[in-house]
Amino acid sequence: MRQILVAGNWKMNGSKASIKELLDGIKMGIGDVASAEVAVCPPFVYLADVEDQLTGTPVVWGAQNLSTEEKGAFTGEVAASMINDFSCKYVIVGHSERRTLYGEDDALVARKFAVARAAGLKPILCIGETLEEREKGVTNDVVSRQIEAVIALEGAAALADGVIAYEPVWAIGTGKTASPEQAQEVHRFIRQRIAEKDAAVAQKVQILYGGSMNAANAAELLGQPDIDGGLIGGASLKAEDFLTICRAAG
Ligand code: PEP
Repeated sequence: MRQILVAGNWKMNGSKASIKELLDGIKMGIGDVASAEVAVCPPFVYLADVEDQLTGTPVVWGAQNLSTEEKGAFTGEVAASMINDFSCKYVIVGHSERRTLYGEDDALVARKFAVARAAGLKPILCIGETLEEREKGVTNDVVSRQIEAVIALEGAAALADGVIAYEPVWAIGTGKTASPEQAQEVHRFIRQRIAEKDAAVAQKVQILYGGSMNAANAAELLGQPDIDGGLIGGASLKAEDFLTICRAAG
């Protein structure tokens, strides 16, 4: 049995005050979350606040990105060692916003996955097709290519040290969720693809769904056999919505 993971990606949202309120709400309701592991990924500058407020609770945390460099003259970048300084468990790599807005390609994302893994962080590797790619019928080719870049650099076994998040780009922040059947079909394909390389890893690796998952649609999505949790954007910014998703994980 793979553990369900529900991770909130706060993106570039929040303030000291709003984060305190959000975390107070999450901490208040976390006792009712039976089985899911719950994580939040704040902007870098709030990692210290999150560490302070969540240490000693069941909620874990992570960063939204990392540099491939160890240290030095890389203005604005954040190294894996710095992320580790704040006791992060996870780091998101290859989010579609990083790929599309900041030009991160498969090779760079694979290097980020490798650097995170080497630092003992669990990378959450985001993959997924655009609307144009879905309409062209190349969804499977796109997700294969994105995973293959990591396998080529690190080997298939490395995937078991991370988490995969299938996030159809057309569903992120748009309110258009993939149907449970559409999502399950791609999740099953991803697992089969990994199984061709390493069956044990395919069974073990958690594959999260991301893309407008919310309190109303989470239970059905999380009920699919190959969906092992969610990466949640907008709905992770309200404690009650986020907790409803976490509780929907059974
Ligand atoms: C995301 O950014 O990873 C995401 C899934 O966003 P949203 O839930 O807002 O679609």
